[in-house]
Amino acid sequence: MQITVTDPVEKIPYVGKIYAQRLARLGIMSARDLLYHFPFRYQDYTQTTKINLLAPDRDVAVQGKIIQIGNIRTKWGKFLTKAAVADESGAIEVIWFNQPYLTQTLKEGVRVGLAGKVENFGGKTSLISPDFEVLEEGAVPTHTAGLVSVYPETARLTSKWLRSRIRSLLDSVDVKEFIPEEIRQERGLLPLRESLEKIHFPKKFSDIEKARQRFALEELLLFNLRSLKQRLVWEKQKTPLPISYDRFREKVDRFVEKLPFSLTKAQKSVLDEIFRDLGGEKPMNRLLQGDVGSGKTVVAAVAAYLTHLNGAKTVFMAPTEILADQHFQTLSSLLSPSGIKVAINTGSRKTDQPDDFDLWVGTHALFYKEEDFQKVGLVVIDEQHRFGVKQRAQLLQKTGSAMIPHLLTLTATPIPRTLALTVYGDLDLSVLDELPPGRKRIKTFVVPAQKREDGYRWIRQRVKAGDQTFVICPLIEESVAESMQQVKAATAEFEVISKIMPDVRVGLLHGRMKSPEKTKTMDSFKRGEIGVLVSTPVVEVGIDVPNATIMVVEAAERFGLASLHQLRGRVGRGEKESFCFLFAEKESAESIDRLRALEQNESGFQLAELDLKRRGPGEIYGVKQHGLTELKVADLTDSRLLKDAQEAARSVFQGDFPLKDYPELEVELERFSTSLIEPN
Ligand code: ADP
Ligand code: MG
Repeated sequence: MQITVTDPVEKIPYVGKIYAQRLARLGIMSARDLLYHFPFRYQDYTQTTKINLLAPDRDVAVQGKIIQIGNIRTKWGKFLTKAAVADESGAIEVIWFNQPYLTQTLKEGVRVGLAGKVENFGGKTSLISPDFEVLEEGAVPTHTAGLVSVYPETARLTSKWLRSRIRSLLDSVDVKEFIPEEIRQERGLLPLRESLEKIHFPKKFSDIEKARQRFALEELLLFNLRSLKQRLVWEKQKTPLPISYDRFREKVDRFVEKLPFSLTKAQKSVLDEIFRDLGGEKPMNRLLQGDVGSGKTVVAAVAAYLTHLNGAKTVFMAPTEILADQHFQTLSSLLSPSGIKVAINTGSRKTDQPDDFDLWVGTHALFYKEEDFQKVGLVVIDEQHRFGVKQRAQLLQKTGSAMIPHLLTLTATPIPRTLALTVYGDLDLSVLDELPPGRKRIKTFVVPAQKREDGYRWIRQRVKAGDQTFVICPLIEESVAESMQQVKAATAEFEVISKIMPDVRVGLLHGRMKSPEKTKTMDSFKRGEIGVLVSTPVVEVGIDVPNATIMVVEAAERFGLASLHQLRGRVGRGEKESFCFLFAEKESAESIDRLRALEQNESGFQLAELDLKRRGPGEIYGVKQHGLTELKVADLTDSRLLKDAQEAARSVFQGDFPLKDYPELEVELERFSTSLIEPN
């Protein structure tokens, strides 16, 4: 029977309903999924060992003939299957537990391959529970010789079973190559069928390497194509009106001159990039990356001002109500003097006349009135942490497909340069790689357990003298909504700190609190009434409290360095000297060593590079958000591979109707795009 890759697993011989359910637990639904369920390691049975050379504690492969076999019932009512297997050098005892049915296939006189551990069993050198297969004359063994694939397994789904099914599937399935030949040839990549064969049933280790090279490029090629496609969709849109800088140059320059500080070089050149985009007919889709405190807000404010001069409105979206409040205040003070009306709508807080505004600050695109979107020229999304992809999609829905405002996304999460083009392939990138002058270093210390008491004492004194402190609770799990567990951890921490510092007012902030309650706590922290604010990691990354000078992070080793750097950025916003204390929960030499990088390093980009090297790409924000962690083979630290895949993608994605010469690739791209899960 011919099977195609899109067939459900039930269609594969010997996969019934029950096995289909077990496969589903591994996310395997189709024949294709099964073919792409790659081994995570290989057992080396390339050498078969002569039986007289077998020694305990080694993994071996043996071939021989069963000279005797039988089941024994033990005192405890269990079964032992005992066999003697011999080759020309000698014989060995083989034992299996509780599989009495084995004797139906394994009979005296049958030639078998065995692979497994040699152990000392009751004083005898024996093979215990080895994998086995009957060796037919002339057939190639699948399980007990050569490089044998070991798969991610689940309950009652063994590598042996998977191996057999994949073997027979490979022999009957129709797989179509979809990477264009010229791309494969240029890079010496194997064709699809051969790659599948080699990754599941390699003859030598170099086979595995070759196959992986193909799959790595395949994944990244599809990923890049998807970005390019999204980019093309965006570029086909039209903006409501071009926003000209030239016409208003003088006014904008005057506005910039009147700011309470002069813009950094980086801010100026990013504004140039933004002005150029705004003047075009295609909507801007730009991501502005800049470390905490690099001054992204004012860049957005200048862009909003220019938008206003051109007769259009700006919508500014913040990830949380507290941040929306803060942006509302900042933007009002920057823009109101120039006669710009700023409004806020966060669900719990609303300006009275939200219709009559030039700049609208809010938490959610859905709060925004549909008909008013016609007049919006610019949308700014302050991504901070968990925001963005979904919001962009919602915006597209809101505006329909006819008119799309310019879009500027701000992010404080730097992504290593080598990765940025892959992760954000659908966006144009700008970077604020410079902090405003005069910023003080935040003195950072990894605090050993025995110094914890001293640390608390010191903090208590500082707080009593008028400083303020953040205490960030351990990160329990990475998720958009806070788990109950996280809330509990925060509450427990709050109680601990309250006890240690009885004469200090301690506050608690977590995501499950009601909005008004959160705002109240935050406001009272801002006013200096709360001395120590205990908070979960997910709340309010961009909050600006100049009097807060101390940041404490609990179980710091659970965070990536770049995340810690962001947390640290909550302090050091005022004139006073600021401090960051990192407490480790498990003080392994490795984690302490990793954390120490923060004592010296102040660049978010460099710390993100370190994260990438030491903990892999899953740690990098944006990588997960864009589905890159779902790639199975590609090594995202391999910058040559990343570049290569980008070039390959560009070479097939050209012109107005891309991919038309590559129908198989187009089909595959469609499947890939819909299979990627995009979290909020
Ligand atoms: P972020 O990039 O983290 O969002 P903000 O926009 O909140 O940073 O800016 C951080 C602080 O730096 C704000 O108080 C802002 O007024 C100030 N700031 C921004 N640009 C400059 C500059 N060029 N010179 C001095 N201070 C600046
Ligand atoms: Mg900000």
